[in-house]
Amino acid sequence: MPSTGITQIQLRDNDGKTTDGKLYTTLYDSGDRIQRALLRLALLWALAGLSLFIPLAHFVLVPGFLIAGPVAAVMVYRSTQARDRAEGRCPVCGEEISIKLEAKDEIPKWTYCPACNAALQITEPN
Ligand SMILES: [Zn+2]
Repeated sequence: MPSTGITQIQLRDNDGKTTDGKLYTTLYDSGDRIQRALLRLALLWALAGLSLFIPLAHFVLVPGFLIAGPVAAVMVYRSTQARDRAEGRCPVCGEEISIKLEAKDEIPKWTYCPACNAALQITEPN
């Protein structure tokens, strides 16, 4: 089962004012990574099978999905963690905010407050 790692972060505004927050990251152990990789491979090869029945497009789609399957599986297998979200209090407007992150996001990262749209930087605590 993937576990959730929680790390301390800071939310910083343009003027350098900071508040404390929490960063939620999904962590995958080796079993999860193999399972996720096989799932991705099965999905893409199933799409290759389905695209067999599309006239003309199958000349491109079938080999495309067959190649994409192992490539995507290896990429998924190599990723050991996925960023989930950052939570904290916005240093500008004071609202409790939750910022959705992309799986590959790295810290520090600039983003926007979902409540007041101010530019915020998610950083490691000093
Ligand atoms: Zn705000």
